[in-house]
Amino acid sequence: IKADLALNAAKSGGKNRIIPFHARMDTEYQFRQQLKTDLKTAIAEGKLHLAYQPVVDPRENRIVGCEALARWDHETFGAISPATFIPIAEETGMITDLTRFVLGKATRDCHTWPGTTHVAVNISARDFRSTDVEEMVNQALEESGLPAARLEIEVTETTVIEERDAAAAALLKLCNRGVGVALDDFGTGYSSLSYLSALPFTKLKIDRSFLTGIETDEHALKLLTNVVQIGKDLDLVTTIEGVETEVQLNFVINHTRADLIQGFLYGAPMSFDAISRLLEQQVYRQNTVPLRLVSST
Ligand code: C2E
Ligand code: MG
Ligand code: MG
Ligand code: MG
Repeated sequence: IKADLALNAAKSGGKNRIIPFHARMDTEYQFRQQLKTDLKTAIAEGKLHLAYQPVVDPRENRIVGCEALARWDHETFGAISPATFIPIAEETGMITDLTRFVLGKATRDCHTWPGTTHVAVNISARDFRSTDVEEMVNQALEESGLPAARLEIEVTETTVIEERDAAAAALLKLCNRGVGVALDDFGTGYSSLSYLSALPFTKLKIDRSFLTGIETDEHALKLLTNVVQIGKDLDLVTTIEGVETEVQLNFVINHTRADLIQGFLYGAPMSFDAISRLLEQQVYRQNTVPLRLVSST
């Protein structure tokens, strides 16, 4: 947050001060240059870490997996949002090293968890252009010993469009190996629906924007219901992202056929220790305790 404030400050130069345009650009430019240099070091020295957000089966009341999300604590600026540093990593090509790190760490971490809990890792469009994604994934699986079926990779519609051929080839091979392939942020991109059946997806992650207004607007609710139905018709597992309230959860359970939920209601992205604890507890816990009351700290 501090870093985002710094970036904002760099952008606006502070609301009340009048700063010439070129000087503002200068500050923001310098800030981003600084981040670029520091991100390179952070990746090289393994200083990024992962947060894990639970993915829950709301009917069984169980965590079935989690998504690995990259985190960067800058020594001067504090926590930097992935919305800031992932684009920098993509522009500079550092994303491949970042993705390799995330894949390695996430598969090793997941291997320590009980049962069949899966872990999901985000792959960038740039990865498909710069590297052999299939090989990178295979290497992570081999080195960690994690069964392929417990790994899922997430790509966005934009990736599918921008890197169509490379992405399709790699996704097909991974899917045949048993790795899950999720289409992330579904509904926010501009892909045609035909990609859904042309590519080997196993899961549809429906963007949280579809939750807006479902409590009050019957059209919004119908839209969500039908987007989920598209996934079900294609035999995909469907996840709804961004569920924050009990009311939203009830609407989702009562009006859609969504299989899984990922959102702050069940838990924000948390440390490895915290998610490990929840997963261990779950082994011994009867499914009667409402999971969403479990603290996510
Ligand atoms: P994403 O892959 O769609 O990940 C889900 C994002 O939604 C996460 O943000 C998560 O904290 C947030 N989220 C989850 N539940 C809720 C909710 O109930 N309400 C709200 N408002 N937000 C919720 P985060 O961690 O800031 O990551 C943002 C994006 O950055 C990710 O979106 C993903 O596109 C990218 N990203 C993060 N880590 C990685 C990574 O390791 N590699 C790549 N390529 N991209 C990453
Ligand atoms: Mg994702
Ligand atoms: Mg998403
Ligand atoms: Mg996203």
